[in-house]
Amino acid sequence: MKLSKALMLTMREVPAEAEISSHQLMLRAGLMRKMASGVYNYMPMGLKALKKVEDIIRDEMDKAGAQEFLASALIPAELWKESGRWDTMGPEMFRLKDRNDRDFCLGPTHEEVFTDIARNEIKSYKQLPITLYQIQTKYRDERRPRFGVMRSREFVMKDAYSFDKDSEGLDISYNAMYEAYKNIFFRCDIECKAAEADSGAMGGSGSAEFMVKSEVGEDDIVFCSACDYAANIEKSPATAEVMKKEELKNLEKIHTPNAKTIEELVSFFKVDSKMFAKTLIYKIDEKVVGVMVRGDREANEVKIVNALGGAVEVELADDKTVFDATSAKTGFAGPINLKVDELLVDEEVSNMYNFIVGANETDYHYTNVNYNRDFTGKVGDFRKVTEGEKCPKCGAPINIARGIEVGHIFKLGTKYSESMNAVFTDQDGTQKPFIMGCYGIGVNRTLAAVIEQHNDENGIIWPLEVAPYQVIVVPAVFKDEVQMKKAEELYDALKAIGVDVILDDRNERAGIKFKDADLLGIPMRITVGKKIAEGEVEFKLRSSADLEVIAYDKVIDRVKEEFKKI
Ligand code: ATP
Ligand code: MG
Repeated sequence: MKLSKALMLTMREVPAEAEISSHQLMLRAGLMRKMASGVYNYMPMGLKALKKVEDIIRDEMDKAGAQEFLASALIPAELWKESGRWDTMGPEMFRLKDRNDRDFCLGPTHEEVFTDIARNEIKSYKQLPITLYQIQTKYRDERRPRFGVMRSREFVMKDAYSFDKDSEGLDISYNAMYEAYKNIFFRCDIECKAAEADSGAMGGSGSAEFMVKSEVGEDDIVFCSACDYAANIEKSPATAEVMKKEELKNLEKIHTPNAKTIEELVSFFKVDSKMFAKTLIYKIDEKVVGVMVRGDREANEVKIVNALGGAVEVELADDKTVFDATSAKTGFAGPINLKVDELLVDEEVSNMYNFIVGANETDYHYTNVNYNRDFTGKVGDFRKVTEGEKCPKCGAPINIARGIEVGHIFKLGTKYSESMNAVFTDQDGTQKPFIMGCYGIGVNRTLAAVIEQHNDENGIIWPLEVAPYQVIVVPAVFKDEVQMKKAEELYDALKAIGVDVILDDRNERAGIKFKDADLLGIPMRITVGKKIAEGEVEFKLRSSADLEVIAYDKVIDRVKEEFKKI
């Protein structure tokens, strides 16, 4: 591409609306432009980079034996009604009607569509296993679109679906995708962790999220300081702290005016927050559920929902529901005489001695409370782990960091094949539902994550495989005919061997050209300047400050050397 003929969209200023570096740089380098909240148009440079990510994904999917399909983004409601998700997807789904008043949606994901394809086209075990994938536009009316294409309302997803005849087959298909994902993110030069993820109340068979660490991430990832353990905090098991045994003391009711939060209670009783157990009242679908965790711990809603066998809606109860359950104002709930459908007690609480809880009476607390003597409930792991606790795999201290999910792989089992009656005939002649897996990667989000991890104050620093262009040739002085001619020859020669190359033939000062080249993040820059008189050019990597002076005839070899490193 010759810059004199291209639409150059670089901006020097940092756009005010962009909070994170990838969003700022995607705008400053002119990769994309916003059209509406969470809706972006890709400019040529951005599209080229996006295609590079797609190429890597496609290559690895093909290598893993998956077959590319392309389904429609416009999906009839019937399929979603069959799976039951027409009602549960909520406002995130873009819904529309056709001229005959029939319901459709713009696909936020395609489990239903691919299950439908499988039930129509795959009849026999002989056609299994099979993994189908597509790279296609998805639509989600996100509550908070933000960080540019990291969380947008229209985005490109690679989604794959595997169909197997049994769970051993699913394990193989799933592992193939796991390996492919590792390769994809390695080739994109993204540092990410495969974190164990929750697979819901139904499955438990397996799910992993590929998470990139980021301050602006919306998930907490737990990872071990010593081994390779990583998990979403929702999933990571907590080990109950063992408390020192004490003689059980007599229950006492204490007047605690104006003390209801743990901080207020700590200063009122002058004891550690570990001496309290808080009782949270949740509304989970139609049920009112009490959940007890130690004063210094946080409840884990995913573990709670799983313990109840799944739920659609989970929220902390409103004041009225709390009053009905406790006969007190919010803030004084406790396990003794609590009127709830179910009481879940974190294991740690069941091990405590002589602790303090709300008395289900406004302005009162009980002290010297003991599990089993004063109350009982369903004991289990209902809390979030905290920094420094023991790794469930090796026992070393764990760390917690914020992360963004770039990919997700999931063993679905028969969740969709059963509800949609997608069956095949097995070897023994019986009809069986497909055993399915699903596998997603956010293509735009991956691109943004590459930029988030590869930049400096001057701009993007593309890894070679994702770079929209790999080399930029800069004639230093526009009016110097020799420089221009030699630069052009080099440009043609690089193009001829398949390099994605830019010629900056604009009538601009060299300083401006260098600044743009840095902002665009082109991995290699070749400057044809004064030294061309001695047959030499300057070669510079975007990732390094060093300038190498190289013979004009040898510079293509130098470029090839970089390609060999991929
Ligand atoms: P998140 O928790 O970030 O909303 P999700 O769990 O909804 O993600 P999936 O349904 O598993 O995501 O979708 C597969 C992949 O699609 C995700 O791993 C992510 O990379 C990408 N993705 C999901 N939502 C968006 C979005 N709004 N914008 C861009 N990419 C997205
Ligand atoms: Mg989401």
